[in-house]
Amino acid sequence: MSSTANVSVKTYKSYINGQWVSSSTGETFPVYDPSTEAVIAQVASASVADVDSAVKAARAAFDSGPWPQTTAQDRGRVLFKLAEKIRQNSAMLAELESRNCGKPIVESEFDMADVATCFEYYGGLANKVTGSVLPVPANALSFTLREPVGVAGQIIPWNFPLLMAAWKLAPAIAAGCCCILKPAEQTPLTALEFANWLEEAGLPPGVVNIINGPGEISGAALVAHPGVDKIAFTGSAAVGKIIVRSAADTLKRVTLELGGKSPNIFFADADWEAAVDGALFGVFINQGEVCSAGSRVLVEKKIYGKFVEAMTEKAKRIKLGPPLDRDTKMGPLVSKEQYDRVSSYLELGKKEAKTAIGGGRPKGFGKGFYVEPTIFYDVDNTARISREEIFGPVASVIPFENEADAIKIANDTPYGLAGAVWTRDIFKAFRLVKSMRAGIIWVNHMQPTYVEAPWGGYKQSGFGRELGPWGLEEYLETKQVFVNLDENPIGWY
Ligand code: ADP
Ligand code: MG
Repeated sequence: MSSTANVSVKTYKSYINGQWVSSSTGETFPVYDPSTEAVIAQVASASVADVDSAVKAARAAFDSGPWPQTTAQDRGRVLFKLAEKIRQNSAMLAELESRNCGKPIVESEFDMADVATCFEYYGGLANKVTGSVLPVPANALSFTLREPVGVAGQIIPWNFPLLMAAWKLAPAIAAGCCCILKPAEQTPLTALEFANWLEEAGLPPGVVNIINGPGEISGAALVAHPGVDKIAFTGSAAVGKIIVRSAADTLKRVTLELGGKSPNIFFADADWEAAVDGALFGVFINQGEVCSAGSRVLVEKKIYGKFVEAMTEKAKRIKLGPPLDRDTKMGPLVSKEQYDRVSSYLELGKKEAKTAIGGGRPKGFGKGFYVEPTIFYDVDNTARISREEIFGPVASVIPFENEADAIKIANDTPYGLAGAVWTRDIFKAFRLVKSMRAGIIWVNHMQPTYVEAPWGGYKQSGFGRELGPWGLEEYLETKQVFVNLDENPIGWY
């Protein structure tokens, strides 16, 4: 069973308490295809009152609904059903994802497979959550219960829309939480299509609610709401800081996956072809709109000149094109706002460094937010283009002298999400692994991500981890239970 995405302008409502509802203000906002700049949908813009309804629904489902009575096995089954729906409809979802966020269709297909795998993983993990019995003295019994944290507000970005929704919803459902998901206002469509299957999969009303709207209104209202126990956020460091400040008033639990300026380090003894590919893949995949992008390419001086040349030659072959063309390797950026932001960094880069390739809008594209893959070289690590997250197809190539120099430059950043090292010397590779201050390190590759392995950052890249058992842990509380076994344990007065 599969269907294709409707190409006409479709109107979407909010999904609150198992119902599709219009905004209390009647407002909608337009959603675009970034390759044509055409409006492809209108979506209900959740007001503060709508956010309140969604939180009340989640609260009711958590505090008194049937959800707390479900077994972990039941919750696992819900997740398996959702995974099945994703797999059955993956062609439609991949097409809609590409049309809405601009990424090449082949990449969206990989994303949809990862979405289904994420639901399956947490479906399997749901009934493996256990407490432990603790070695207190013999006259007592002490153990822990693992309980859901409660109502989770989940705010996600536009670069991997449905995958980020899966990373948030799947562990929360497994844990027994209730959720209010707020997709990015640029890319709400796949999450809204997904909402159509929630009831059929067995979720009672209110367990998962999906609202949309500007971050400063609907996102901020969710973060400030006293009925929300936890905020899980993926997005910019700037908004992460706003969220932490706002969440302080109600002392919510907060997990943050923020930006990065990840070093991708190339030693002279690396496998040449793999390394050149790795440098490009690290920073140009998904148009560079990746939090773990290897946007700082650190290259050992011995191979520096040749490496920049080889990167440049291969970058010429990157095919820019419409997201739905199967041979497209790079689509448009997600929005006008992002296009303008990246363009301003391109102008800055031309002043701060030398340009090997790119630096503007590609020729032959009348419409769409396309940007050329761009390589700046002879970049100093103090330059803004090597310190600030650009979130576009922009590489800053930085030369380094030796291993110590590479480590120093790699760690000289406020961020710490990821890093990669390319070398055939295993001693050097593992020294680098231990020296880099980042949450994810790749050796002789960059970007592969598996649901079984933790994802998250050091330093200003955030706190908390997603995926694997770590991701589930963030949705659990620990209750300590002490059972006295003595007849008269106190005997004090
Ligand atoms: P970008 O600027 O690249 O779009 P953001 O960090 O602003 O990245 O957006 C990521 C998510 O955060 C989106 O869902 C957005 O709506 C939301 N958001 C933006 N501002 C706020 C805010 N002040 N409070 C809560 N959520 C916000
Ligand atoms: Mg923003």
